[in-house]
Amino acid sequence: MNSIFADAQKRLVEVFKHTKLTDDVREKLKHPKLSLCVSIPLRMDDGRLKIFSGYRVQFDDTRGPTKGGIRYHPNVSLDEVTSLSFWMTIKCAVMNLPFGGAKGGVCVNPKDLSKLELERLSRGYIRAIADIIGPKRDIPAPDVYTNATIMGWMADEYAQIKRQQLPGVITGKPIHLNGSLGREAATGRGALHVLQQWVDRNKLQVENLTVAMQGFGNAGFHFAQLAHEAGFKIVGIADSKGAIYAKEGLEPQKVMQHKQEHKDVRTMLYCDGSVCDLQHYQKLEGKELLELDVDVLVLAALENQIDVHNAGNIKAKHILEIANGPVTSEADEILEKKGIHVLPDVLANAGGVTVSYFEWVQNRAGYYWDEEKVNRRLEECITREAQAIFSISDEKKVSLRTAAYLQGVNRIAGAIIEQGTREYFLNE
Ligand code: NAD
Repeated sequence: MNSIFADAQKRLVEVFKHTKLTDDVREKLKHPKLSLCVSIPLRMDDGRLKIFSGYRVQFDDTRGPTKGGIRYHPNVSLDEVTSLSFWMTIKCAVMNLPFGGAKGGVCVNPKDLSKLELERLSRGYIRAIADIIGPKRDIPAPDVYTNATIMGWMADEYAQIKRQQLPGVITGKPIHLNGSLGREAATGRGALHVLQQWVDRNKLQVENLTVAMQGFGNAGFHFAQLAHEAGFKIVGIADSKGAIYAKEGLEPQKVMQHKQEHKDVRTMLYCDGSVCDLQHYQKLEGKELLELDVDVLVLAALENQIDVHNAGNIKAKHILEIANGPVTSEADEILEKKGIHVLPDVLANAGGVTVSYFEWVQNRAGYYWDEEKVNRRLEECITREAQAIFSISDEKKVSLRTAAYLQGVNRIAGAIIEQGTREYFLNE
């Protein structure tokens, strides 16, 4: 299989063509600063001992402590976590947050674990990485198949290890455990702001726009619900088990209710039900949804969903990347030639890390904001950065992805250069 990180790095080649940067920057962005691989022993409910592989990668901390989520998925690997930490580095800089990038993950299918096993695994993971995280060093958050409950367990484990309450070590916590109002919906809300800015800029009418969604979890569901309320017509929704399509439009809340009603009573955290169990709608294969003739295709599941094999079949006019890395670099070229605009992950899904930043600020200040303030500040930040990226794209005649990377990489470069470069030390 191709390396996701090698593919992620290819984006920089294009970016460096459009900005003059010292070699120090290129060199620094090639290598993660710290990669930790751990084995997490888990005592299963039936008494067996199982070992799970876990990772934490801190890619670059030149601009501040590193920040990035924790993923539980059977395909988690060091390569994937490294790529995700690289994207987080770019994303935090795109949003001008005082953070570098990191990511973590455990190679596990959490749906196979009981709630007690899941809690023990989450606490075990934190014990394994406790030496390299902290509110001033590296701050995890939720990602695929992790959630606020898990973040609460992890923050508690860290407090027990350090013998003091340090809620700023993890964001995305439950509200009653020092979480931030507005964090749960923040990724979807931020993505909708980016899409709305784009729609306005292109003088499109929201009511006329159809949307197909791949991924209906935390990020995807909140986006779908807010977009539905804003007047977009959600005609297709896919999750890991299949997809549904309704020409007249779907109601995200009802689809979610259905999913939840079918969950296994054994676990509260994950549902066994799938959107494709719903009646009255046409059922599709998950991959078919990607090729629907819609205005906007929203990718909110996993990386590498559009690649060289299916890019040519995509009919959507605009793609909104809520997932990290859902389009490969080769597919990017094909989509660009077809005139399909991609609103890139490092901007489109940055609402989550932005409100995570607000949560960290509130935890450190010990002073909590109301939801209206959180949402307003998110809108201000993401609108400002989106507008700047759209302008770079127009001025330099580059894709929105290259424009976003230019914005992020130039900010990271600013920090690296301030620490001294070859030219500075040799007085060139
Ligand atoms: P989640 O676990 O809540 O949901 C994941 C969703 O993807 C589920 O609906 C699942 O059924 C679906 N899915 C998985 N494999 C699929 C497949 N092969 N085809 C179709 N659907 C599939 O995760 P999430 O937090 O919503 O994250 C989704 C994506 O958004 C990830 O790429 C994540 O890195 C990115 N993201 C999330 C946040 C956040 O705050 N949650 C922030 C930034 C980026």
